[in-house]
Amino acid sequence: MSSPNSPLDLTLDGGTLTARLVDFPSVSGEETALADAVEAALRACPHLTVDRFGNNVVARTHFGRPERVVLAGHLDTVPIADNVPSHVEGDLLYGCGTSDMKSGVAVQLRLAATVVEPNHDITYVFYDCEEVEADRNGLGHLFATHPDWLAGDFAVLMEPSGAVVEGGCQGSLRADITLTGVRAHAARSWLGDNAIHKAAEVLRRLAEYRPRRVVIDGLEYREGLNATRIDGGVAGNVIPDECRIHVAFRFAPDRSLEQAEAHLREVFDGYQLDIVDASPAALPGLSQPAAQAFLAAVGGEPRAKFGWTDVARFSAHGVPAVNYGPGDPNLAHKREEHCSLAAIAEVEERLRNWLTK
Ligand SMILES: [Zn+2]
Repeated sequence: MSSPNSPLDLTLDGGTLTARLVDFPSVSGEETALADAVEAALRACPHLTVDRFGNNVVARTHFGRPERVVLAGHLDTVPIADNVPSHVEGDLLYGCGTSDMKSGVAVQLRLAATVVEPNHDITYVFYDCEEVEADRNGLGHLFATHPDWLAGDFAVLMEPSGAVVEGGCQGSLRADITLTGVRAHAARSWLGDNAIHKAAEVLRRLAEYRPRRVVIDGLEYREGLNATRIDGGVAGNVIPDECRIHVAFRFAPDRSLEQAEAHLREVFDGYQLDIVDASPAALPGLSQPAAQAFLAAVGGEPRAKFGWTDVARFSAHGVPAVNYGPGDPNLAHKREEHCSLAAIAEVEERLRNWLTK
């Protein structure tokens, strides 16, 4: 195994470089050593300018091309689960971060080092703290402090997508619906007003709700409105005076956050509804010329992204973005996390074609 602090050799093939990155632990909040190594390796490339803010590293070409594209990936992983150092079994590389997303970072680094005459200007972004609370997210910090470093016409986030292009992402709203009544002894229940019984009408509206399916840029998004938690009750002999229903609304990117909230308030008209968490959706933007060129070059059928990812941060700043990476999203954060070595090579090859032909 490599020494964790040895310099990164960007001439290694993508799979071997991924293994080196996995053996260089970088759990969220502990990315400094890896960010140092990434920065040093990129500074050795004469065709790149390199900037750093905290543990975020941005490398850019400046060839004066008509379009600039962004390749972005996070350096951190979830906590290690007895799965470092990495090891290979057949075509599979095992270890923490192999799928999410050091294989994607390895591809970024390989392209950064070797695509010396790109057909677009390219910005490579490596950031910290993606796997933790949103206010620590390095990409968010970069957008807040150095938005000019992230400017571009199209962005590819190299999160695990099974080497399939995933466009946009759904938005998320979480809200509490609070039902109130009057507390009383269960033996004299006519003196009270049961808040839990009032949940019935809210649950009926949820059960009868028909979520939309929406096609945008050829991708089908599926919305969902669900109760995910219900709290209420005081004691076995007390008529409860409060009941709270927690509702999750996942919505397609043709709704803004404001429109999604208005829809939620319309569905639950007459009830006290408090938004507790809100993340906007991101439009896939696949009809944009830069995205079309990308799709033509990498091939395959794109699909909709249902979860929320950092593509929404790019989208919020007017940069259409997709997820496209070699890792398997279903293996992310698992003890048995692994990645196909062939997929790493394939994604690198397809992106190289896109960036050079
Ligand atoms: Zn990730």
